[in-house]
Amino acid sequence: MATETFDLVVIGAGPGGYVAAIRAAQLGMKVAVVERRATFGGTCLNVGCIPSKALLQSSHLFEEAGHDLGVHGVKVGPPTLDLAQFMKRKAAVVDATTKGVAFLFKKNKIASFQGIGRIEKAGSVAVLGDDGAVKDTLAAKNILIASGSDVIPLPGVTVDEKKIVSSTGALELTEVPKRLVVVGAGIIGLELGSSTASRRASTTKSPGSSSARSPGRA
Ligand SMILES: Cc1cc2nc3c(=O)[nH]c(=O)nc-3n(C[C@H](O)[C@H](O)[C@H](O)COP(=O)(O)OP(=O)(O)OC[C@H]3O[C@@H](n4cnc5c(N)ncnc54)[C@H](O)[C@@H]3O)c2cc1C
Repeated sequence: MATETFDLVVIGAGPGGYVAAIRAAQLGMKVAVVERRATFGGTCLNVGCIPSKALLQSSHLFEEAGHDLGVHGVKVGPPTLDLAQFMKRKAAVVDATTKGVAFLFKKNKIASFQGIGRIEKAGSVAVLGDDGAVKDTLAAKNILIASGSDVIPLPGVTVDEKKIVSSTGALELTEVPKRLVVVGAGIIGLELGSSTASRRASTTKSPGSSSARSPGRA
């Protein structure tokens, strides 16, 4: 078990954590990042902005090919959907961007520790494995908590990530649902709803999310 001393230990390698870690290293600090995921980039790069935009772009192209090209004088036959290829491309985009963060960590000499970061006491961060055992202990002059957020469960609703999905499950669906009810008309709900709709599903907003409401926060 290693005990190393860092000027800054960042817990969480999402956009909050990785940008701060890189900037601190560039300013001359000895920096470590503790991330519980196997890859860097947090929600945004792994299960948020990036995969969602990748699917949105593919869905948009699919819709354009089916509806909008004729008006430009571009004649193509009706497109068919290869969802497996949608997902493959999405995975490749995620892989490239998360590896980009790993590259930047290396370039800026940032030490990374895979595991759950737990502040033991002032100036000390333990790195726990999946079994809860302490793998490393890092001495830290400064600690940055950049642990992000998680999906809020609805009371009485079990999210099984198959029929009832969070945004994370919605990005992994292996079939285009015929009907999809999106609870919440924030940016994430609208984006996932619209990309699913473009893939020919019939999308219905929940009664609580009136069309008069403007998109809220992500
Ligand atoms: C589908 C979707 C689409 C989105 N689209 C956009 C968009 O287009 N534009 C936009 O600006 N935002 C978008 N967002 C929001 C964006 O993802 C978040 O705002 C952003 O990820 C927050 O960054 P963060 O670093 O604060 O947290 P996160 O990205 O959540 O990163 C936190 C990291 O900390 C890790 N962590 C947590 N606890 C610990 C611990 N104890 N030890 C070690 N690691 C830990 C987590 O594993 C995670 O990797 C979207 C989100 C979703 C879900």
